[in-house]
Amino acid sequence: MKRTSAVLLIIGILLMLFPQPVVFAQSFPDVTFTHPNYIAVKKLSENGIVAGYDDGTFQPDKEITRTEFCALLARMLGFVPQGYAVKEVPFSDVGADYWGVSFISYCYERGLINGMGDGTFAPADKVTLAQAIKMAVCAMKKEAEALEIEGENWYSGYVEVASKYRILKSISQEPDENAMRCSAAQIVYNVAMYDGGVVNYDELMQEYAPEFAPTEDEIDELYENKDYSYLSVILLDPGHNYRGKDIGARIDELGVREEIITWQISDKLRFMLEEMGYTVYMTRENLEDSIANTSTTESLQARVDLAHAVLADLYISIHCNMGGGTGTETYCFDLGGQSAHLAKYIQKNITEATGFYNRGVKTANFFVIKNTAMPSVLVETGFLDMESDREVLLSEEGQEIIARAIADAVAEYAESLERQDGAAAAILESIE
Ligand SMILES: [Zn+2]
Repeated sequence: MKRTSAVLLIIGILLMLFPQPVVFAQSFPDVTFTHPNYIAVKKLSENGIVAGYDDGTFQPDKEITRTEFCALLARMLGFVPQGYAVKEVPFSDVGADYWGVSFISYCYERGLINGMGDGTFAPADKVTLAQAIKMAVCAMKKEAEALEIEGENWYSGYVEVASKYRILKSISQEPDENAMRCSAAQIVYNVAMYDGGVVNYDELMQEYAPEFAPTEDEIDELYENKDYSYLSVILLDPGHNYRGKDIGARIDELGVREEIITWQISDKLRFMLEEMGYTVYMTRENLEDSIANTSTTESLQARVDLAHAVLADLYISIHCNMGGGTGTETYCFDLGGQSAHLAKYIQKNITEATGFYNRGVKTANFFVIKNTAMPSVLVETGFLDMESDREVLLSEEGQEIIARAIADAVAEYAESLERQDGAAAAILESIE
């Protein structure tokens, strides 16, 4: 089955499972799980920051106006029209009776906009990605930093600062292009998620569970004719949940929490893999996310379901060890196939880059590597209760090194797939 028909199948199953917008009112048939901006659109719509059209669609590729983007940003920042006193704005083309004057006034008041430079605001013009980025950077109060950077274009500094703070995460458009609705939503979501916290939307960080839990037969069908000779979609699984049942190893007196470290490494790795051109999904999109939180089994099942729902080509689960040892070990379900292949690259790269003791590639029937249809590994990066390991695991630099080692392993693995050509599929058949 080709990927497109698989996606249609997922949509079909979703529609079957949830025929009417009852529980998942904010699901859009044109922004499903496989859309790179799915989570942003979903979470913003759940919080009334973006809305769909009357026919239930979101129309992610549609362009939006400068005023509409102001409205999006204003709502994210907590703007409510009731009780807001509209101020006069210094734009000749925005009158007191203009439909979007309150949004424009609010954004102007907060220093997010200053017009086109000629006394107008061009409220009905399409917003370019660069303009949206500028407003986002201002909303994060980082404009001064952007203005210090000299560049080829007026927006160079803004783009650089936005990139630095991950505001361009999951954005694939160029600055000069008109921003599409999905990109606009993603930027606003990224600002909301920004660590420094212009706004802290607790609701945006609600636990989420995949809406698509395929049966074994459906997984077989989805993966039946999957082409493994190239990599495209990678599912990154930061081990454990931030809260709830499936929390990780902890050393309370040191404030060390496995689920924080696994997320921090994964987030860095995600960025690297995206730079390499892969589509990356995370089982925990943000640090404080938890996935399917009612039991450990549900949490693990939800991770596996997500991998299948996005038709992942590769599954990488990141963990930290505990219990009186030292060093790195990488697990796969069995030694014969592609999972072991990837595990070997990861094991070699991490131990070489960190100097950690090499505990080797091992097999185990851990839930997430046992129940995933695609090649999958679980990495125990190092031991939290071994001081020398812990120092590396807790440091920015150490996390970068580990993430880079894994990213390089993925590159080496991908290269080896290309070398094997059709042989990759044959090797895969040896995986039970
Ligand atoms: Zn763990």
